[in-house]
Amino acid sequence: MRVGARVIRVTAPNPGLMTGSGTHTYLVGDDEVAAIDVGVADEGHLSTVLAAAVGRIRWILVTHGHSDHLPGAFELANRTGALVHGYGSSGRFPGERFIPHRRLRHGDKIHGREWSLTAIYTPGHARDHLCFLLKPEGMLFSGDHIMGGSTVVIAPPDGDMTQYMASLEHLETHELHSIAPGHGEVITDPHGEIARVLAHRRARERAIVSALSDCGPMHIKALVQRLYSNTPVSLHEWAAHSVYAHLLKLRREGVVRGRDRRGRWRCA
Ligand SMILES: [Zn+2]
Repeated sequence: MRVGARVIRVTAPNPGLMTGSGTHTYLVGDDEVAAIDVGVADEGHLSTVLAAAVGRIRWILVTHGHSDHLPGAFELANRTGALVHGYGSSGRFPGERFIPHRRLRHGDKIHGREWSLTAIYTPGHARDHLCFLLKPEGMLFSGDHIMGGSTVVIAPPDGDMTQYMASLEHLETHELHSIAPGHGEVITDPHGEIARVLAHRRARERAIVSALSDCGPMHIKALVQRLYSNTPVSLHEWAAHSVYAHLLKLRREGVVRGRDRRGRWRCA
């Protein structure tokens, strides 16, 4: 499916609760192509990606090392000879396993004919997360940092709410015309969407503080039940990660204290 003058989207066959209709792979360029987030190493998906690319796949870019975004990258590299580019992990934390062929840092660029992709370091959902900004279109490939139509899970220690919100505020400073997320539809009001996500997080944070000041010391589970009463219980486990991420941020800021010996959080 074409989503821009030189951008084609192929969706991997991994639909689910956290992946929506599946992880999107984006192909940028005509004669030389950059493939962003090849997703799962599924035979049919890789064949579709290879068939959809107009020209030779020269670069493989990875927004972050989560298992619904990364594995197909190295498989596609084997078949095309293209190198895998990404931020990569330090290997110091459990579950980290992404060692790219080429490490990208904030501001690094890939140059195609009449276009470029700039890496923007956006930790928060994952500590190795990059977004890629396509110019001249102003299309941002946002991976899991911003999703179309669903809330991003921030699960410490890989996820960090302070960094997540700072990364969103940084993205606001770029001139964006659209956002092509790793899951969900293209967002045509990028600055409105970023403002909406930031407002949602700030409101959530205020709700946590006011629950703690109304009710006294609380466990995360009780906070989730109070704050997410309109959310299906099946999602409460994921909500608990984000509440924990908010509490760590608030503790860093001196607003809350926790956990006490009984595992409860309270206002500072
Ligand atoms: Zn992810």
